[in-house]
Amino acid sequence: MRAVSFAIEPNPSPVAVEERSARLVDPGFGRVFTDHMATMRWSEAQGWHDGRISARQPFQIDPASAVLHYAQEIFEGLKAYRLDDGALALFRPEANARRFQRSARRMAMPELPEELFLSSIRALVRTDADWVPAQDGGSLYLRPFLIASEVFLGVKPASEYLYVVLASSAGSYWKGGTRAVSLWVSHDYSRAAIGGTGEAKCGGNYAASLVAQQEAIRRGYDQVVFLDAAERRWIEELGGMNIFFVFADGTIRTPPLTGTILPGITRDSILQLLRDEGLRVEEAPYAIDDWRADAQSGRVTESFACGTAAVVTPIGQVAGPDYAFTVGSGATGQVTQRILDRLTAIQRGRAPDPHGWLQRIA
Ligand SMILES: *Cc1c(COP(=O)(O)O)cnc(C)c1O
Repeated sequence: MRAVSFAIEPNPSPVAVEERSARLVDPGFGRVFTDHMATMRWSEAQGWHDGRISARQPFQIDPASAVLHYAQEIFEGLKAYRLDDGALALFRPEANARRFQRSARRMAMPELPEELFLSSIRALVRTDADWVPAQDGGSLYLRPFLIASEVFLGVKPASEYLYVVLASSAGSYWKGGTRAVSLWVSHDYSRAAIGGTGEAKCGGNYAASLVAQQEAIRRGYDQVVFLDAAERRWIEELGGMNIFFVFADGTIRTPPLTGTILPGITRDSILQLLRDEGLRVEEAPYAIDDWRADAQSGRVTESFACGTAAVVTPIGQVAGPDYAFTVGSGATGQVTQRILDRLTAIQRGRAPDPHGWLQRIA
């Protein structure tokens, strides 16, 4: 492989300072984009090449590009934060780099070397540093993705790929801050099956989950929660977040990574923090019937969902076709709040970071 890096070509017409400030007041999630993007290409002949940071703008794509037909696509999601001393930092970006490689393997795509993933992220964040919102809860959400760009309608792993990183200024994921979400348990649709792509971060998983999410919304719930495809019994995860259960005896449980669940970096970080505290944590299956009975008896006192975008989100109401129950008080529980506070304190550089998760950008 040739030595590659990201050549910087500044955007000749960046967004004006006043306009940028206006967009950063209340950026929400996923709508405000920065002036630049990172791109790099891969071909069988050249390997990874042509890395650049350039103006973010629409690119041309041939209508016969493989990704548009067979969904050979993977992505990642991570955040850059502004610390109190003004420096910018990433949270466990090498974990995202490694997961991107695992996703690529599953989708028969070339693996981006960890160092290229990290340097693309760092170069883009440095270039668009002014787009990181200063307010509490603000961050720069980074969205690396890889698409099959070969122009060919035959079904096979493509021989050409395009890697892109977008940066998007983000406020709080949920409008109005953290509040408990309501969940619809899907007994009709599955997100992933053994041997499928559930543990790869690929767009296709999301495409398959949308109809279930749509049903949840139609019924008046915020999010869908999926059960295992084989028995329709074991709780797996939400459409884009992992799930935790807090028991009255202090135990905390999350479903195990058996191939159908996305191995969240937030999930992994929370498990580590809880173990550091000496709490009993279990990666063990949990049945929907047990959740319902335990919430009703008070054996389960809290439940929460977690992921990079929404961090830690309490779960209030839960319902399925012929049942409905409330977890705990239906609002943010004490353990949930403590985990959210501990995690965000580390991400913001306001608490000791014993595992070296925060990576400052020079
Ligand atoms: C990205 C993702 C998560 C959360 O992973 P994090 O690394 O914590 O952001 C959970 N479930 C699905 C399906 C995901 O795509």
